[in-house]
Amino acid sequence: MLRIEAAYKSFDGFIAVNGSHLSVEKGEVVAVIGPNGAGKTTLFNLITGQLIPDKGKILFKDENIAGLPPYKICRKGISRSFQIVNIFNRLTVFENVQIAVLSHQKKTFNLFFPAKNLAISKTRDILDSVGLIDKAGHISGTLSHGDQKVLEMAIALGNKPELLILDEPTAGMSPEETAFTLSLMKKLSGELGLTILFCEHDMELVFSIARKIMVMQQGSTIIQGNPDEVKNNRQVQDAYLGGSDECFK
Ligand code: ADP
Ligand code: MG
Repeated sequence: MLRIEAAYKSFDGFIAVNGSHLSVEKGEVVAVIGPNGAGKTTLFNLITGQLIPDKGKILFKDENIAGLPPYKICRKGISRSFQIVNIFNRLTVFENVQIAVLSHQKKTFNLFFPAKNLAISKTRDILDSVGLIDKAGHISGTLSHGDQKVLEMAIALGNKPELLILDEPTAGMSPEETAFTLSLMKKLSGELGLTILFCEHDMELVFSIARKIMVMQQGSTIIQGNPDEVKNNRQVQDAYLGGSDECFK
């Protein structure tokens, strides 16, 4: 579904993504791990069009999408959430998701068909599936941090993606919120069959859901493999823990 070949991105001479590669098959849950500053967010920005690669290919369903604007990439079936929550704070939970649904359905505001009545059942379905239906009328800015991160996922789902990209979905969450997010990701992958690509520092979460893990260091891909291959890779052990696999236990 997604294949990144030798992607490069530099900022004023600093190479943030340095020949990285990655592949994601349909239906897979793939994690990207690596220390802060490894280039994970930059890589995601290259996939979703927030940034344009200097070199390399980003193939989505065999089409090179590198350099397309974010809205076109979104229309092709890739949605994402951000490391830093990105929602309309003053709108309700319902309205935030409804806008995404309307935008996906390409419905414009129309005198004869008030926008408020559009996409109601679809929006309710999404809020129901992520557990936010009881908070549909709440002003989004007043939600807890954990609920805001989940709302961002719901907004991403409004675009009916084939590939969902999550940048640190549990950053700043309590253990309960993290557990809930993990179960939600399992549900999205299992019941809804979504393909998920995410990056995350919580190794317990990574190893409990990802069937494939890509490890990034200084902008490059060290390895991409199944959890056991990654745990047993010497370079990964050195990068992470000075030569032991303790942190993966
Ligand atoms: P990660 O998400 O793995 O923590 P990032 O992709 O955010 O890493 O950043 C990788 C490197 O690129 C970091 O050193 C960061 O400071 C740098 N970087 C990211 N975005 C920019 C930017 N817009 N301008 C300059 N440097 C950037
Ligand atoms: Mg990041």
